[in-house]
Amino acid sequence: MFLDRREFLLRGFGFLNRSRGMTTQDQLFTLRWWASKKVAEPETREAMLAILDSLLGEQAPPKPLVPLYPGPEFPVVGRPILADGIDAYVRSADPRWARGITIHHTAAPSLAQRPNGFLETHMHNLRSYYRGLGWSAGPHFFVDEDQAWAFSPIAKPGIHAKSFNRTHLGIEMLGDYDREDPWSGRGLQVLTMTASIVAELLRSLNLDLSTVNFHRDDPKSDKTCPGRRIDKSKFLQLVQA
Ligand SMILES: [Zn+2]
Repeated sequence: MFLDRREFLLRGFGFLNRSRGMTTQDQLFTLRWWASKKVAEPETREAMLAILDSLLGEQAPPKPLVPLYPGPEFPVVGRPILADGIDAYVRSADPRWARGITIHHTAAPSLAQRPNGFLETHMHNLRSYYRGLGWSAGPHFFVDEDQAWAFSPIAKPGIHAKSFNRTHLGIEMLGDYDREDPWSGRGLQVLTMTASIVAELLRSLNLDLSTVNFHRDDPKSDKTCPGRRIDKSKFLQLVQA
């Protein structure tokens, strides 16, 4: 997913508009991350990085995530996080119970129902939804095309797949991949973002690729999750890339 200068600015403004819960410094770090990874043309990339570095000044690392809902009842972090923030997040929570990662799609909402990805308010709504089911936790991350949203704290098992709850982190990808296309446009952006988050989690937790499974691998589930249109080996190739 490579951006030219115009696309970078458009997506950057869109991101700033949607990330008012983040500090200015975290927003600048996010934009810097995009510029370093996604701006294809080297001269443009260097120019963007120089501007962002001058705005960031002395680069202090982003602060630890402050939970939106600290708990004790249904705690939710509710904060955006990028692949390069995963290791610090894992180290802050020490989720030694996690021996793998289970991938889901949200199905509802679909990509079409969230044209700008997730907002902080959606984390609030999702918390209400899961609490309404009588659950004490949900999945650990929701991923859209721009970032992962830390949801249930990773220090403890979540609730997302009967057979895997006790051993696997749960990651929900925005989209309905029974119907929507995971291999082009926003679908591919969400999958690529998820793959980079999964790769960082594996590295940080010292797990290998074989510990990544799909919700539909659960013998106690008859779901197609994360969607019929996602081939597992193809997804795992993205994680390895
Ligand atoms: Zn699922």
